[in-house]
Amino acid sequence: MSKPTNDCGCDRDSGDLISVDRAMELLLGAARPLRVTEAVDTISSLNRVLAASCISAVNVPPMDNSAMDGYALRVSDVGDADAGLPVSQRICAGDTADPLQPGTVARIFTGAPVPAGADAVIMQEQAEVTDDKVCFTNPATIGQNIRRSGEDVAVGDEILTVGTRLRGQEMGLAASIGLLGLEVYRKLKVGIFFTGDELSEPGQELAPGKIYDSNRFTLHGLLSALGCEIIDLGIVEDTLDATRTGLQAASDQADLVVTSGGVSVGEEDYVRIALEELGELTMWRIAMKPGKPLAFGHVGETPFIGLPGNPVSVFATFNLFATPFIKKMQGMANYLTAPIPVIAGFDWPREGNRQEYLRVKLEITTDGQRRAQAYPHQGSGVLTSTSWADGFIVVSIGETFKQGDLVNYLPFSEFR
Ligand code: AMP
Ligand code: MG
Repeated sequence: MSKPTNDCGCDRDSGDLISVDRAMELLLGAARPLRVTEAVDTISSLNRVLAASCISAVNVPPMDNSAMDGYALRVSDVGDADAGLPVSQRICAGDTADPLQPGTVARIFTGAPVPAGADAVIMQEQAEVTDDKVCFTNPATIGQNIRRSGEDVAVGDEILTVGTRLRGQEMGLAASIGLLGLEVYRKLKVGIFFTGDELSEPGQELAPGKIYDSNRFTLHGLLSALGCEIIDLGIVEDTLDATRTGLQAASDQADLVVTSGGVSVGEEDYVRIALEELGELTMWRIAMKPGKPLAFGHVGETPFIGLPGNPVSVFATFNLFATPFIKKMQGMANYLTAPIPVIAGFDWPREGNRQEYLRVKLEITTDGQRRAQAYPHQGSGVLTSTSWADGFIVVSIGETFKQGDLVNYLPFSEFR
C-alpha cells in the first residue's frame, strides 16, 4: 500500500508546539481522583471502579469436588480390582457425601463433593460397568479429576484491588465469593457541549452550509463505555454569551466539562475567551496529528478539556488525553495505555514534525503475525477511518519505517 495521505500533505507549523508526552504529563498532573464512594449491587456494577478491595471469607471451591462425571475411588483399590469394584453410593452436584467405604467406588457427577477417603476420580469414559461392578480401562493417579477446595480462591485472598474497573469477569469473581454488593466510586459526571453554528442534529433536514453534529454521538459512545454519567447541553451557538452560559451551566453540574470545537484561534472560536473570563485556561498546541489544539483549564473547581472540532481529532484527542484523565478521576489504578509492537504493512518514508496517530486495521499474516494496514485517507475529517480501523499506529516525530518493520500499535479497545 502506498503511503496514506493527509489533508494538505504538508506540515506548515513546527514552532511553539509541545510534545504529546509533555501535554499528557501536564494534563494528568492536574487530574484529581473523585474519592466519593457508594454501594452498588454486584449485578449492576459493570464498568464501575472498585473503591474497596474484596477479601474472600470463603474458599472457592468450598469443598473438594469432581471435575468429571465418573467414579470416585481410592487409587490403592484399583490395582487389585481386575474383578471390578462395587458402587457404594451415588453423589450428584449439590449433595453431601458419606465417607467412601473401602474397596468400593462412588458414582459421582461434575461439581459433586468428593467423599472422604477417595483420592481420585476416573472419568466415566474410562469405566466399564457390569451388573454390579465397575472396571477401569486406565490407571488412576492421586488427585486426578479432583478440584481442590480453595484452588481458585482461598480464605483471606484479596481477589480484587482498589482501582479496578469491573468487567463481566470481575463481577463473576466477586459473586463467586458471595458478594451481593460492592463499594465503588460514584459515577463521574461529565458535562458536554458542542460549538459551531454549522451544526445540525441528525433527524433535521440539512440546510445549506450545515453539517450533522457527529462529535456529540462519538462522545456519548466513548463516555458511556467509560461508565460516565453524561450531562449533555447540546449545541451551543458561536457567540461569547452562549459559550459563557454553556461553560457555567456545565461546570455547575458536572465533575468535568468536555467540549468540541471553538478552541482554535479563529474569530469565531469563543471557548478560549469564555474560559479566560470564567476561570483559567491553558491552551496547548500539541505536536500531534490529528488534533493539534487542545484546551485545558478550570471553571471554578471543575476541570475543563476543550477538544478540537474535527471529528477524527475529537476521537483521537479524547482517547489519548481525555480518557486517561477520566480514568484517573474515576479512581482507576491503571489509567495509561502502552503501545504494543506489530508489523507495518506499508511504508512511511517521510519524517514528520508532529507525532502521528494513523488509523490502522490489523491483519494476520500467513505465518501468524499481526500486520497493520492504514486507512488510505488519513484526513482529520474522515471519520470513516475511525470506524474501519481497530487502532492507531503511533509514528514519532522524525520516524520513518518500511513494510515489515516493527511499529507501535495502540488498540482502540485499550481506551476503556
Ligand atoms: P472548529 O475547531 O470549531 O474550527 O472546527 C473544526 C472543524 O470541525 C470544522 O470543519 C467544523 O465544522 C468541524 N466540527 C466542529 N464541531 C463538529 C461536530 N460537533 N460534529 C462534526 N464536525 C464538527
Ligand atoms: Mg467552530
